[in-house]
Amino acid sequence: AKAAGRSQICYYSVRMQEKLLSKMNLELALRDAITNDEFELYYQPQFDRLGNIQGVEALIRWFHPTQGLISPMQFIPLAEESKLIISIGDWVIRTACLQLKKWQTSSNLQHATISVNVSALQFSQDDFVTSVEAILREIDVPPKQLQIELTESMLVADKEIIAHKMGELKQLGIQFSLDDFGTGYSSLSYLQKLPFDQLKIDQSFVRGLSSHDEDSSLAFAIAAMGSSLGLEVIAEGVETQAQLDLLKQCGCDLFQGYFLGYPVPVSELENRFSQRDR
Ligand code: C2E
Ligand code: CA
Ligand code: CA
Ligand code: CA
Repeated sequence: AKAAGRSQICYYSVRMQEKLLSKMNLELALRDAITNDEFELYYQPQFDRLGNIQGVEALIRWFHPTQGLISPMQFIPLAEESKLIISIGDWVIRTACLQLKKWQTSSNLQHATISVNVSALQFSQDDFVTSVEAILREIDVPPKQLQIELTESMLVADKEIIAHKMGELKQLGIQFSLDDFGTGYSSLSYLQKLPFDQLKIDQSFVRGLSSHDEDSSLAFAIAAMGSSLGLEVIAEGVETQAQLDLLKQCGCDLFQGYFLGYPVPVSELENRFSQRDR
């Protein structure tokens, strides 16, 4: 038994070493990913109650030269740890703005907003506001069409600073969405003090919704709360018609999820929403 125990220990430590090594390799590869042009933004459509596209969420994809597609769930935490998220996040905002610029002429996506995910570390940089401002000025796009998604869990940092930063960005015309709402602990009175435009009901509340299930009360309560705070309410993770119907009954304004459209490369998005010949 003792020998078996020991070999198990060895086994785990080798595995841990391998894990650490692959993590280090991944971080090394991440360092060069921008210059090697390995990132791409995918776009997932967001629809209003009538089924018109209102905007898209930009979701980053990393095409590693040998490992192929690596999920953001895997590399974003690593990017945060290594602070690489600051330059990656900058790339995301720049790329989204360049996309908005391209859509300004003729496209059906002319009025679409792009929502970008901004990480806590990126947002906390002293020069975050000025760097966003510089990108907007350089690329010259309507700031109203850029929306920044902040997660509830980020709002634990110094409230004064967050509110001030958001205020400055709002003055530029940028919009804010509160992502993953319902998973954190932010109080209502606190939320009321921050200039959010949109509240995003977390997928976990949508997942439980089905027509057999009478308990849509949680989603309903969240949607009602958002509306009473004067916020646009969007539901994400919509996977079925039944969920869509229930979320409409809950009063949600916008809908996003696999049922309505997967995150896709820009060419695919443009094909789907291209102007019909008249
Ligand atoms: P998130 O911001 O909550 O994004 C929503 C995630 O749910 C995306 O996963 C999206 O592909 C997925 N999703 C969309 N519709 C459905 C659905 O109907 N069902 C289910 N089960 N999932 C759905 P993805 O693209 O893998 O991104 C995961 C997370 O990685 C994001 O969660 C976000 O936190 C982070 N992330 C993605 N792109 C960026 C980025 O550019 N910057 C930063 N900082 N984080 C990012
Ligand atoms: Ca998001
Ligand atoms: Ca989310
Ligand atoms: Ca909006």
